Amino acid sequence: MPLPSKSPTLGVDLGGTKILTALIDHHGEMLARDQSPTPAEKGPEEVIRAIRESAGRCFDQACLDASAIEAVGIGAPGPSNPESGVLFTSPHLPGWRDVPLVGLLEKKFKKRAFLINDANAAVLAELNFGAAQGLSQVIYLTISTGIGGGIIIGGRLYTGAIGCAAELGHMTINDQGPRCNCGNYGCLEALASGTSLAREGRRRIREGVQTALLECASGDIEKVDARTIRIAAEKGDALARELVARAGYYLGVGLANLLNIFNPQMIIIGGGVSNMGEMLLAPAYKTAGERAYEAAFSMVKFAGPKLGKNSGVLGAAAYAREMMQKH
Ligand SMILES: [Zn+2]
Repeated sequence: MPLPSKSPTLGVDLGGTKILTALIDHHGEMLARDQSPTPAEKGPEEVIRAIRESAGRCFDQACLDASAIEAVGIGAPGPSNPESGVLFTSPHLPGWRDVPLVGLLEKKFKKRAFLINDANAAVLAELNFGAAQGLSQVIYLTISTGIGGGIIIGGRLYTGAIGCAAELGHMTINDQGPRCNCGNYGCLEALASGTSLAREGRRRIREGVQTALLECASGDIEKVDARTIRIAAEKGDALARELVARAGYYLGVGLANLLNIFNPQMIIIGGGVSNMGEMLLAPAYKTAGERAYEAAFSMVKFAGPKLGKNSGVLGAAAYAREMMQKH
């Protein structure tokens, strides 16, 4: 007899440095949670073993047997094919190529498993349990070292024809812009991510611009990053403020594109760089307002994420639950 759908789901958030696992019930309540280091350098088999061990500690905490779960949902950074469950590559798991994550998990847990990228997991988590509850048209943008995205259309996650949709960080903002990690030029990620801020900061220091930035990075130009730029900007450093405002402007161009294409009810902006707050977001909203259709801009609600570091496990579990209902 199939298990009732009220069985908990195991959510896994696979990061480059840590593995989070959690048992989530059908209300989104977390029954147990465990965190352990990712043995990334030892290869996929060892990582799967570490996930199983971490899950085992969750089962113990909740006094449950592994057979009691409905399914396993795993969120991982990087492009993947959700249909085949293969993670093509991952920026945080060096050497990983075409890893059949879902197959490996299903073998280990003897349960169905589902793979989702980390930004898609985050938007699903916010939709089900966080800032976007009750909404049906939602965009999620996460700005950290890179820029990722998730799209909800009609209350469902939109993943495209083969699962590689919502690469919002790779929409072209300036066709003459700097080279992006993806090989294209002038992507949003190449103009408004933490990495692009740092690169631009170093370039301007090398040009001889007077700035307190170098001081904030202990005099080491290689230590200039989004964090030091934030600190310098908060101290009023002109260059740092200019860099953040410039990233905010490009972010606003990207937001205008999203508003005009999707007419969302809400755009959630998360990720470490978004913590810069007003100095980044005010120019972004101003630019979006100047460029987007008034009707789309005036109705959208911009919000921050509500769920913090648990959004990966919550979203992966929600995805597995959704997929089990579909099949
Ligand atoms: Zn790109």
